[in-house]
Amino acid sequence: MNQGPQPKAGILGIEAYVGGESTIKGVERVVKLSSNEGALGPSPKAVDAYKSIGADIHRYPDGGATRLRQALAERWGVDAANIVCGNGSDDVLQLLAHAYCGEGDEVLYSQHGFLVYPIAAKSCGATPVSAPETDLTTSVDALLGAVTDKTRIVFVANPNNPTGTYISSDEMRRLHAGLPDHVLLVIDAAYAEFVDANDYEDGSALVRSSSNVVMTRTFSKIFGMGGLRLGWAYCPPAVADVLNRIRGPFNVSAAALAAGEAALADRDFFDLARRHNLYWRNWLAEELKRLGLPVTASATNFLLVKFPDAPAADAYLRSKGIIVRAVKSYGLPDFLRITIGREDEVRAVASALAEFVGA
Ligand code: PMP
Repeated sequence: MNQGPQPKAGILGIEAYVGGESTIKGVERVVKLSSNEGALGPSPKAVDAYKSIGADIHRYPDGGATRLRQALAERWGVDAANIVCGNGSDDVLQLLAHAYCGEGDEVLYSQHGFLVYPIAAKSCGATPVSAPETDLTTSVDALLGAVTDKTRIVFVANPNNPTGTYISSDEMRRLHAGLPDHVLLVIDAAYAEFVDANDYEDGSALVRSSSNVVMTRTFSKIFGMGGLRLGWAYCPPAVADVLNRIRGPFNVSAAALAAGEAALADRDFFDLARRHNLYWRNWLAEELKRLGLPVTASATNFLLVKFPDAPAADAYLRSKGIIVRAVKSYGLPDFLRITIGREDEVRAVASALAEFVGA
């Protein structure tokens, strides 16, 4: 029997998160459409900023991320004092769970919600509880029905990964209105910049007007900087204070700070990335529907596609050097999630699937 140090309750019950794969044995150049990384990569200005700090990496970064928070505040109309930055938004999601949940508490999320939520819950000894979805979409009624006096956090990805669906601002407000004041509603808006719907809001207005809502955002998606790890939370003042007490004092690197600021300033590149995504997301959805494949309506930079035999489709794509994401671990064994890549990549996956279905 292992007599060595034992972790806290719940930790050995965690299935470690497995990221999208990036290699296929024997294939030199793969088409990687498995991790929802920005199709066009980072802004060239962000890359220049990243390079420009090379000679100064002996210096600690600004632990308060002052300039980046200011730039975020100006860009998104939020208050810099209530932003907390993190080493990716995963960092911030974990910090929230650790600050507000412990053994005996419940963390609520939606059936096909992002897998980091149950991981974060278990890592602090809390119990993850999932509420069923309707039509692969977050159900406010089901979430409200699952709230108990043990619920501490409700995590809602809006839009959600891996379904790609979103709930309207009215629905999000109805969820918030139904929650007791002591329950923290975390709106994970990792894909907010891709949404093109009039009835959507990212959550910042709700943060501003309440004491129990946090919105998280990331530079990993539309800004194409997943490798640098940069995310942030917009919080009520008391929550920002809590996160600032427990976060690593230098949890965002100097490289991420510099590149993040430059990426925010490059509006042309942002607009290009957004236009690219909207065009090719629609294009691919139409192509796949033409092939008879059901495609879930997406507000993000990926499509969730249903197959009669998803593992066979996955294997066929791999044989063509294309990696997409199987989502069995999200309770969706009949689906594959396909990230919108560059034009050549989107065309490649469309032709491979046409061959697969024999069109
Ligand atoms: N939330 C959602 C819904 C996501 O899909 C992801 C990325 N897979 C994240 C958060 C985490 O992003 P990051 O840690 O790179 O900011």
